[in-house]
Amino acid sequence: MSTKETSVFLTDRFLLRRNDKNSFYLFLCNFPQTLKMALLPWRRGKVIRIKNETATTKRYWIEVPELSSFDFIPGQFVTLDLPIHEKANKRLRSYSIASWPDGTNVFELVIVLDKKGAGTHYMFDEVSAGTELSFRGAQGIFVLKEPLDKDLFLICTGTGIAPFRSMVHHIHNKKIPHKNITLIFGCRTKDTILYYEEMKKLDESTESFTYIPVLSRESWEGRTGYVHQVYEELCKDKKPAEFMLCGWRGMIDQAKQKILDMGYDAKDIHIEIYG
Ligand SMILES: Cc1cc2nc3c(=O)[nH]c(=O)nc-3n(C[C@H](O)[C@H](O)[C@H](O)COP(=O)(O)OP(=O)(O)OC[C@H]3O[C@@H](n4cnc5c(N)ncnc54)[C@H](O)[C@@H]3O)c2cc1C
Repeated sequence: MSTKETSVFLTDRFLLRRNDKNSFYLFLCNFPQTLKMALLPWRRGKVIRIKNETATTKRYWIEVPELSSFDFIPGQFVTLDLPIHEKANKRLRSYSIASWPDGTNVFELVIVLDKKGAGTHYMFDEVSAGTELSFRGAQGIFVLKEPLDKDLFLICTGTGIAPFRSMVHHIHNKKIPHKNITLIFGCRTKDTILYYEEMKKLDESTESFTYIPVLSRESWEGRTGYVHQVYEELCKDKKPAEFMLCGWRGMIDQAKQKILDMGYDAKDIHIEIYG
């Protein structure tokens, strides 16, 4: 869907969730997507591996035994139906797919524990290798818009890196033509950086890919501060660029406003808000 309003996305939990006016108009624009989502079947997924990525973040590998290949577009998410409430609409939690389409029936999620959250407590305390989960998807419209004919800035904090990890590997694997891609990842301390070695390696081996982790609460050999200072610096000459923002509302609202203030058009900004 192409619209000047960029803050649109669809999940099971929030049928249409955005932060501007004209939502009914956008609902109509999205109607085919909404309908398609409603028609997606619920599937069984089996957790086959879990790894602690940081003290508060875990990676989950989920196999879909009923499919030989689990197909999705990098940037899409799945919705889990977790047994945490008797009401169906209170059980649903969406998670971006952190892996890339590789022709197998396994996908990866990366989930941060919300100390007061019901869903993540279930995922951290009750789920282990062998647990079966009910899920729907893949779904969502936060995906790459080809051709990738402008520099691309992928801006995220914490597990907001999930869709970007999927996208950058996919672009690399499929040799999709692109301009420069810069992944700006923000978190507080070095021990909370996600996929650090992997992203560093991709940066070192790929000329067109730059990875910039930024720490807000710790001095280290890399950048400190917030993600905003990085793209403001890199785009001060207002070169043609597209911006994809993913994570929690505070960072996204701020980034969107700053990018608009720099003179970019709303249509160059694409966002996925986690909550
Ligand atoms: C498209 C999409 C993709 C996402 N992808 C990811 C991802 O890849 N990784 C990831 O980690 N997260 C992701 N999320 C966020 C995820 O869906 C959940 O929102 C998140 O994991 C928290 O779920 P929870 O059940 O633990 O918290 P919830 O139970 O939903 O609670 C969330 C917060 O609400 C507050 N709260 C809840 N109930 C109450 C109450 N009764 N009174 C007062 N406050 C309350 C709590 O303070 C809590 O911190 C994504 C979200 C979306 C929409």
